[in-house]
Amino acid sequence: DVEIEFSGKTRVLTVSNQKGGVGKTTSTVNIAAAIAALGGRVLVIDLDPQGNASTALGVPHTAEVTSIYDVLINDVAIADAVQQSPENERLFCVPSTIHLAGAEIELVSQVAREKRLDTALEEYLESLDEPLDFVFIDCPPSLGLLTINAFSAAHEVFLPIQAEYYALEGLSQLLGNVKMIQKHLNPRLRVSTILLTMFDARTRLSHQVADEVREHFPKEVLKTVIPRSVRVSEAPSFGQTVISYDESSAGAIAYKEAAVEIVGRGAPRRKG
Ligand code: ADP
Ligand code: MG
Repeated sequence: DVEIEFSGKTRVLTVSNQKGGVGKTTSTVNIAAAIAALGGRVLVIDLDPQGNASTALGVPHTAEVTSIYDVLINDVAIADAVQQSPENERLFCVPSTIHLAGAEIELVSQVAREKRLDTALEEYLESLDEPLDFVFIDCPPSLGLLTINAFSAAHEVFLPIQAEYYALEGLSQLLGNVKMIQKHLNPRLRVSTILLTMFDARTRLSHQVADEVREHFPKEVLKTVIPRSVRVSEAPSFGQTVISYDESSAGAIAYKEAAVEIVGRGAPRRKG
């Protein structure tokens, strides 16, 4: 097994890509579970009205559950919305409920509408006796106010890219948005981590996309790629991550290796 050292500082990563279906949620829950299995304390904030991350972490998220919606709109503390995943005592989730679907519009008229999550998260992290090692924010596939809240609250952008045709399409828009957030809301934000997902080693296309992404982002792309694997896609229907559902499957092994890389690299250096 690998020796893992956590820095004692909390790293906050927003898992973003405005394309849907590229593996944001899958990567969020599996990397989070893998880091928890390595001994880290990890919080997942489900910021997608679909609530798929809450489902995969086995956390109840029916309409009456206190959720990230209440944090953003009703000034509820994260401490009052957080739940422990049944999978690991070090793995936590602030669930999303169906109410979040309306939050994009409700946020528009709120004071400090871009900073609601940042303020709530900062307050929560300061209140903890035992610090968290990682916070992952699972974003919806859009660049609306929910995603802007995630960008404002995070230190790092974690970008999953599906190894397929058009993978890089729309990426310049995302990078432009990150620049805008750096300038106006959150100067410390960095695109620190890129992960190639649903990689099919048998196709030339997967390799071509991987080469192209590595050429553009040599420092950010993880060495590990996530293979396409049925076990990965089955796990959520059992309310589990693949780390608990089938820990020796190719997908689980890849996510564990990616987690080791992410922890091992440490937080990006701050400029200046
Ligand atoms: P996003 O959050 O970006 O919309 P998801 O994580 O929900 O994307 O993934 C989209 C679909 O692809 C889901 O059905 C998921 O189960 C499936 N999927 C993701 N990663 C893999 C993988 N490595 N192997 C097989 N299926 C995958
Ligand atoms: Mg998703």
